[in-house]
Amino acid sequence: MMTPLLSPATLLVHGGITRSQFAETAEALFLTSGFVYDSAEQAAATFAGTVEHYQYSRFGNPTIAMLEARLAALEGAEACRATASGMAAVHAALLCQLKAGDRVVASRALFGSCHWIVSTLLPRYGIRTEFVDCADLDAWREALIEPAQLVLLETPSNPMLEIIDLAAVAGLAHRAGALVVVDNVFATPLLQKPLALGADIVVYSATKHLDGQGRVLGGAVLGTKSWIENTLQPFIRNTGPALSPFNAWVLIKGMETLALRVQAASAVAARIADFLTGRTEVEQVWYPFRADHPQEQLARAQMKGGGTVVSFAVVGGRSAAFATLDALRLIAISNNLGDTKSLATHPATTTHMRIGEAERARLGITESVIRLSVGLEDPGDLEADLEQALAAGRLAHAAD
Ligand SMILES: *Cc1c(COP(=O)(O)O)cnc(C)c1O
Repeated sequence: MMTPLLSPATLLVHGGITRSQFAETAEALFLTSGFVYDSAEQAAATFAGTVEHYQYSRFGNPTIAMLEARLAALEGAEACRATASGMAAVHAALLCQLKAGDRVVASRALFGSCHWIVSTLLPRYGIRTEFVDCADLDAWREALIEPAQLVLLETPSNPMLEIIDLAAVAGLAHRAGALVVVDNVFATPLLQKPLALGADIVVYSATKHLDGQGRVLGGAVLGTKSWIENTLQPFIRNTGPALSPFNAWVLIKGMETLALRVQAASAVAARIADFLTGRTEVEQVWYPFRADHPQEQLARAQMKGGGTVVSFAVVGGRSAAFATLDALRLIAISNNLGDTKSLATHPATTTHMRIGEAERARLGITESVIRLSVGLEDPGDLEADLEQALAAGRLAHAAD
């Protein structure tokens, strides 16, 4: 790990570099599945663990190792393992340590596939699971009176941007005997440091801001050296959710501009949240750092910025929301986020379609809600696009 005295912007460019014998400037892409040995003796010693040597890219690879070291340095974590996708990271972080009879407590507002793992997959293996409303600290307290082995949460939540008090929930979880796993995708490693607030494990979908340019899938799990090496690594090594070295290389190069991109997009997201607020076509706006966010103070206490996502509800329900989305010219309709291109989606019929109507109602994901992931376009151009699209949505509503 690099010295923590270097600032995040510097670590994002230099963290984790290992140069080959050719002394290349840019990080090398080792697109190889295997490695060769000087002798049978060396191969045997490598497998016995007495010599350090790469064996096979499912276990480790020099390009992937650079990504892992850079992310660990940025996060302030002892160790990191990269995976093929964010879901592979979440799945591995949970299944590497859970067993029949265990109990998991999770925040209700989870990314759709994380919700499926907790509600559907884990119970198949005899793991008891329970969901808690994010912002309700009393509900967390009550759920964690009974012992638990793991707490999984996401803050800010997708798409309603609810905030969970990380330090408070980590304290309750530890008293219940649970490790705390935080899905830190929305905040990015720059805006929120879950480990410093008491979390034990952080997971990322690197597909989002780390690549940030809509190219590759990837994921990462970060934690202590002993947990990563003794608990996670055997699971990953033997089940194979390995990241491609090519994708690792794309992510390394994506990270070089992460600080610039997250700062710029967050500033524009905050501006767009202000722009949307109070418009006649807009019922409500959610953005963590706005004074009208019910948890603004908590957001400001545990995050360095409000993030790159704004959610808002249009007047007129699904037809107005669809008409607004369909009228967008610059902003694309897409369920991805954290891209340089601004992307908008209708969570109720896309990302959160499968969780069902009752669960959506509990989370406040109505048919009026649009989630906007802000990119790097000129803010004036984005506002002009939103303005004409909202006008189209209003007309569609008037015609209903
Ligand atoms: C996208 C996302 C995931 C899943 O990541 P993939 O790379 O798509 O597998 C998990 N959690 C959150 C919060 C996400 O936004």
